[in-house]
Amino acid sequence: ASHLPSITDENIFPSLPPLLHGHSDVHLRNGIMNAFTLAANHEPDAERAFFVGDLSQVYQQHLRWQACLPHIQPFYAVKCNPDPYVLRLLAALGTGFDCASNGEISQVLALGVDPSRIIFANPCKAVSFVRNAGKMGVDMMTFDNADELYKIARAHPNAQLVVRILTDDTKSLCALGIKFGAPLVTVPGLLAKAKELNLNVVGVSFHVGSGCYDPSVYTDAVKRARTAFDMGTEAGYQFSLLDVGGGFEDALFEQAASFLTDAIASYFPDRSGIRIIAEPGRFYVSKAFRLAANIIARRAPLTEVPRDEAAAPAESDQPAVMYYINDGVYGAFNCILFDHQTAHPYVLSMNGSFHVASSEALNNSSVWGPTCDSIDCVCTSTQLPSALRVGDWLGFDNMGAYTVCAASQFNGFELSKVIYTTGGLGASEVRSALARFAVEGHGL
Ligand code: PLP
Repeated sequence: ASHLPSITDENIFPSLPPLLHGHSDVHLRNGIMNAFTLAANHEPDAERAFFVGDLSQVYQQHLRWQACLPHIQPFYAVKCNPDPYVLRLLAALGTGFDCASNGEISQVLALGVDPSRIIFANPCKAVSFVRNAGKMGVDMMTFDNADELYKIARAHPNAQLVVRILTDDTKSLCALGIKFGAPLVTVPGLLAKAKELNLNVVGVSFHVGSGCYDPSVYTDAVKRARTAFDMGTEAGYQFSLLDVGGGFEDALFEQAASFLTDAIASYFPDRSGIRIIAEPGRFYVSKAFRLAANIIARRAPLTEVPRDEAAAPAESDQPAVMYYINDGVYGAFNCILFDHQTAHPYVLSMNGSFHVASSEALNNSSVWGPTCDSIDCVCTSTQLPSALRVGDWLGFDNMGAYTVCAASQFNGFELSKVIYTTGGLGASEVRSALARFAVEGHGL
């Protein structure tokens, strides 16, 4: 991590004067203004799409977590967005980390985080990864099948194991139960096998699915975890860890927290000796990142020019204009394909101006990514000003979760870079958290 520069307005925008107001809106504008300047000098980077990552937003989410779930320690799911500044901030704020691979474990450990703050929460791991986790001092890991137990017995016999149970994931955008989670009926057999192999099972985890839109499912999940705890006692273990997974949606967070708190109170009335953790990903970062993309091309849809030249042009309700932007589903918008998201573009700047009159005439439009593949469609139909032209900028909110981390460079397009801001509410806390982290000597 020592190669990361510290975050100051000056080094985030080396080519711009120091920012007076640090809010992410200002950074979006400045990013675009910077592009205009580069364009005037015919610089190739002028049109490049970019993210604005608002670290104060991440901090705000952490405050929300602490206010609603003070007794549940968050282990941020690194896979969701392994941005180095996000990880550094969360490390400074004292969260734990849910890692899916050796790569993520190394990234977190390089920040100076103690291995006890990591859970290797992938129930199906390569033996070499299990062994490596052991060497790195990462002991906490999940399993949901007997083969995993044999692997762990060989490669990291002192691991602290967490049995991942299957719960109802039907109320989530991304169901995970088809791939992971031991049905309760299989748990006694797995625990017996773990005992036979002399392994230490310390608790239970579940995941209700990512992007959970009905947080009442946490109630049943905690109930099942209770049953699994009792199975642990039957098998001769004394469980001390409950991991309530991820799935937290920004808009439903307070509701989810309340279902969880109530369920824990009913099913774990005596919480002494039980540590409760969670693995939130999306909740922490989704809102914190916005994307600015440049309109690089514009054309009429094909239907207006019939392929059979003799036929009359078909009347259709298809979009009247197709806009092509410089990030797409092979890049940041992979979230449309993998994470079942919908993109909602809005105009950031038009004809060099940031003021778009509400009286602008609108056209039904579609928005496409830059590659030569026709699956690369960001938005099939949306209302955009008819005066929108090549060179104008579109904005997209909520682009922090499962976006850049899964982006490819298909067709040779580079990944969109991040401009950071610590500007919104909590800016000074963010800066001092990062500074404190540096002072504690974590190699920053
Ligand atoms: N934990 C595990 C094991 C996961 O697989 C995931 C997401 O896939 C998460 C946590 C994070 O979930 P979310 O982003 O919905 O909070």
